[in-house]
Amino acid sequence: MSYHVLARKYRPKSFSEVVGQEHVLQTLSNALTQNRLHHAYLFTGTRGVGKTTLGRILAKCLNCETGVTAIPCGKCNACISIDAGKFIDLIEIDAASRTKVEDMRDILQNVQYAPNNGRYKIYLIDEVHMLSGHSFNALLKTLEEPPEHVKFFLATTDKQKLPITILSRCLQFNLKNVPVEKIQAQLKNILTQENIPYEDSALLHLAIAAQGSVRDALSLLDQAIAHGANTVKNAAVNSMLGTIEQDQLFKLCEALAQKNTSAIFVIINELSQLAVDFTYVLDELLTLLHRIALLQTVPNCTIASWENLDILKNLTQQFSKEDLQLYYQIGLMGKRDLYLAPSQKIGFEMVMLRMLAFKPESLNNPLIPAERSPVPAVVKPNASQPICNIVAPISSKEKPITIPPIKAEQPDLSFYDELLPHSTPKPKEHVLTTKSSPSTQQNYQTTKPQEIKFETKEEKPLNLHDILPALGVTGPTQALLKHCVINKYDQETIDLLLEPNQAAFLNSKHVERLNQAFSNYLQRPIRVNIEVGKPNLETMANITSRNNEQKQTAAQNSLAEDPYLQKIATAFNGKIIQETTSAI
Ligand SMILES: [Zn+2]
Repeated sequence: MSYHVLARKYRPKSFSEVVGQEHVLQTLSNALTQNRLHHAYLFTGTRGVGKTTLGRILAKCLNCETGVTAIPCGKCNACISIDAGKFIDLIEIDAASRTKVEDMRDILQNVQYAPNNGRYKIYLIDEVHMLSGHSFNALLKTLEEPPEHVKFFLATTDKQKLPITILSRCLQFNLKNVPVEKIQAQLKNILTQENIPYEDSALLHLAIAAQGSVRDALSLLDQAIAHGANTVKNAAVNSMLGTIEQDQLFKLCEALAQKNTSAIFVIINELSQLAVDFTYVLDELLTLLHRIALLQTVPNCTIASWENLDILKNLTQQFSKEDLQLYYQIGLMGKRDLYLAPSQKIGFEMVMLRMLAFKPESLNNPLIPAERSPVPAVVKPNASQPICNIVAPISSKEKPITIPPIKAEQPDLSFYDELLPHSTPKPKEHVLTTKSSPSTQQNYQTTKPQEIKFETKEEKPLNLHDILPALGVTGPTQALLKHCVINKYDQETIDLLLEPNQAAFLNSKHVERLNQAFSNYLQRPIRVNIEVGKPNLETMANITSRNNEQKQTAAQNSLAEDPYLQKIATAFNGKIIQETTSAI
């Protein structure tokens, strides 16, 4: 008897045999039992997830001699010949090899004739996105008004390439990648039927390598059976896939937890001799770190396919949460750059060294001096600020790298830092006054913008710039607010002063929104009054535009002083057109 590849031998013959895709099966079964049939179905999804298989099963459902059914008998002539690929009324077309419009016309010229044997004449067009534009047009005419006895099943891996006119005439089914657990179970099922000995972890590796495609998994299984001389063992599968044994992965992880560099390098050398794919090793390491992190946070969270749970739980004790996050991030970045390394092994070694070179320090570590933030943030007392300090363990005397909290959509105010004297801040004044003095009344303040202090001790100074993100105003209202400064402020009202050139944009809607926003932010009813007048402090819009101007001037100066540009300008008798320059 001739040998059939597993993917063909175990191709599902009914909906119940299909692996995964429950959402599609349910819909199709219901449509069949209720006899609500569409004339065109489109199956989309990556390779090997069952698009054409579903098409063939559906063809049986429609043509089975027992009647239109969700459970075809599998015994009648129609069912048997469809299974054998010999049913005359199921016309399978590979669009990839028949892209021309003449081909499509040939195919469609028989559409109007009644089916020979079956109830319906079915056109199953695979890789339909490969058709030419004219072919799509030819198909479209038939697809619009097909005869009663015709059904179209289209399958594609690339739905984006289909014209919208085709998409809108089809009932669409998006087939998902099949989960690893389901593929593994299917492999197990097949090997049991075939009486072939196997190891569970070997099947897991095959299922992962198949990346959601059942057909790929079965092809890999065929290959593994041949490679392992009629067995599917872990070692053989690992050598076939270039993957790594779980034991070695755990050892690597343990050495990482203990920061044992020499042990790590022994393992890397062993792996290198087995000619493993280090991209895969890094992937596996990241997967393991993810599982450990997950188990640390949610101890009851386990997935059926996770093996060696005891070892995993043991590893959760050996890593700190911060370490896990850092290692994961470094691994992820390392994976991105791995192909740039002189060799995969070198790249992997550097990733491991980088993991050991840095370690996160907790926020409250007294050894880390707090870096002064460019502009002291005035925020709600309970607002949390993410701060991450990273120091190299061997150079604790060196200044640590401190990443200050980042706020979205704020203008760069770092120039304030240069203007401020580097001394301890003055004690807080409790007088209702702006910070401007008579001598600077006509000029803009050069210290912190628009900070106003109040008599109440509990209230922190309200700084428009700092609270803007938390206010939640957007669009024109936010734009208007950026041209305002706070003039006066008490428990119930906020008086804003709007720049005169923005007066035309002021209306009651903005005031209403600001009433709401400030009331929400301060958690009490607030009435906002907006007056038009020249503010004695810089508005946020002023600061941004001044900042941009400074950058632009600096950019233009640097271009003007560039010796190469000067040489070019002299040689070609040219000049720099200032309007075309912009700061970056
Ligand atoms: Zn049948």
